[in-house]
Amino acid sequence: MLVVMQAHATEEQIRAVCQKIEVMGYRPHAMPGATRTAIGVTGNQGEVEQGTLGEMPGVQEVIRVSKLYKLVSRDVKEENTVLRFAGTDATIGGKNLAVIAGPCAIENRDQAFAVAERVARAGAQFFRGGAYKPRTSPYTFQGLGEAGLRIMAEIRERFGLKIITEAIDNESLALVAEYADVIQIGARNMQNFSLLKRAGRAKKPVMVKRGMSATLEEFLMAAEYVMSEGNYQVILCERGVRTFADHTRNTLDLSIVPAVQRLSHLPIVVDPSHGTGKRNKVTPMSRAAVAVGADGLIVEVHNQPDKALSDGAQSLYPEQFEELMVQVRQIAAVVGREVVPIGAEAVSEPARAR
Ligand code: PEP
Ligand code: MN
Repeated sequence: MLVVMQAHATEEQIRAVCQKIEVMGYRPHAMPGATRTAIGVTGNQGEVEQGTLGEMPGVQEVIRVSKLYKLVSRDVKEENTVLRFAGTDATIGGKNLAVIAGPCAIENRDQAFAVAERVARAGAQFFRGGAYKPRTSPYTFQGLGEAGLRIMAEIRERFGLKIITEAIDNESLALVAEYADVIQIGARNMQNFSLLKRAGRAKKPVMVKRGMSATLEEFLMAAEYVMSEGNYQVILCERGVRTFADHTRNTLDLSIVPAVQRLSHLPIVVDPSHGTGKRNKVTPMSRAAVAVGADGLIVEVHNQPDKALSDGAQSLYPEQFEELMVQVRQIAAVVGREVVPIGAEAVSEPARAR
C-alpha cells in the first residue's frame, strides 16, 4: 500500500500518518519527492488494512500496490534518486556520470596505489577493489580482508576517491560498512536475502549487482530487500548475464538500463569488465553503456594485468582507461551528462597538507 500525501502536507501530518501506520503494525517509508511525499507501507503479510488512513489530514489518496516491489518503484517516487557524498559534487544518479575504477582485487599497497593514482588522474571519482573476493575456486586469491579495506581508506585520504568494495557475508559487511563509502553486493549474493536485509540496516549506500541469470523483476526485488529495511541509498549494477554465447564471459544486457529506468527511480551503473570478460570489449561497451543512458560505469583497471591475481584478462591498462575516459566524456555530453571532478574538498585535510 502507498499513502500519497497532498503537495502542501506538513511535516507534522506526514509524521502523524507514519505513526498511525506503525500503530497498525506496519512499517512506514516516507519518500519525499519534488511535488509530494509518498509513504510506502511494508511489513504486512497479506493485504494491508487501510483503516482510517485515507481520512487523515494531508492525505491525498491511499493506493493498493499489487506489484511485489514498492519502494524501488516510480509509483512511490517519480523523480530519479541521486546519491550524494560528503565533500564532492560527484553524485551517483543525476547529471554526473559516475566513474568507478580500480583493480578487481586489492593485492598489496603498491599495486592499489599505482592504480588509484592513474585512475584518479584520468578523472575517476570512485575507487573499486575487492578485499573479500567471492572466487569460483577456493584455491585462488580470496582477498586481503580488513588489510585491503585499510589500504582503500588510505587511498581515499590520499586521492579523494570514494571507495566501493564488496561484502560477501555478515562479518565482512560490518567491516565494509565501517571503511567504505558504498557497500557492494556481488552478483553471487544478489539473492542472499539475509545479506541484503543486513545491508538495508547499514548506514552506507549499497550497490546491488545483477545476479548471473536474474530477471529484471528479481533484480529490482533484491534492491527492494535493501530498501525494505530503511536504507534508500541503493544503486543497481548491470554486469552481464549467462547465455549460450561464448565469445564473451557474460552477455552485457544494456537493454536493462532503460527497462530499469522506466520502472524505478534508482540509479543504474554498468560493469563492462565482468560483462564481457575481455579487455578489448571493455571500451566499446563502456561507450555503449553511456550512450544508452547508464548513470555510471564500473571498470577494472590494473597496473600489471598480466600479473593480476584475479580478472587480469578483463582489466584495462591505465593508458587504456585514460583513452576510455576521453571517449566517454564526449558521449556523456551528447546525452546531457558530464563527469564532474571529485574536487579538492573530497581529499581530507592531512592528505592535502602532505
Ligand atoms: C566484482 O565486481 O568484483 C565482482 C566480483 O563482480 P560480480 O559480482 O559482478 O561477479
Ligand atoms: Mn573482477
